[in-house]
Amino acid sequence: MSKREERIGRNEALFREVNERIERVTETLQVETLTILCECGDPSCFEQIEVSLPDYERVRADPTLFLIRVGHEHSDIEDVVEEHEDYHVIRKKNASAAAQARKLDPRGG
Ligand SMILES: [Zn+2]
Repeated sequence: MSKREERIGRNEALFREVNERIERVTETLQVETLTILCECGDPSCFEQIEVSLPDYERVRADPTLFLIRVGHEHSDIEDVVEEHEDYHVIRKKNASAAAQARKLDPRGG
């Protein structure tokens, strides 16, 4: 895994952690749609994504998946596995990048 790939992976994991907090707050408000941050791994990207709570939970159950704005994937290191109107779901291609994503999962992988 390259330094760049590792850095992107760290940033994605950081944004995922922020989104996990947003989810917890949103759950207490009992709304069905989350407004989360793009998890593309670019530290200057603060674009927002609207995702239903069930969709967020489904994606989050797999620690190697991330939610990003359409077009924000790094196609050399990530595959787009789901296309939605407002966002795409990406999966880490590289096994060690996937392992890093699992290790940094706040849900414990
Ligand atoms: Zn982004």
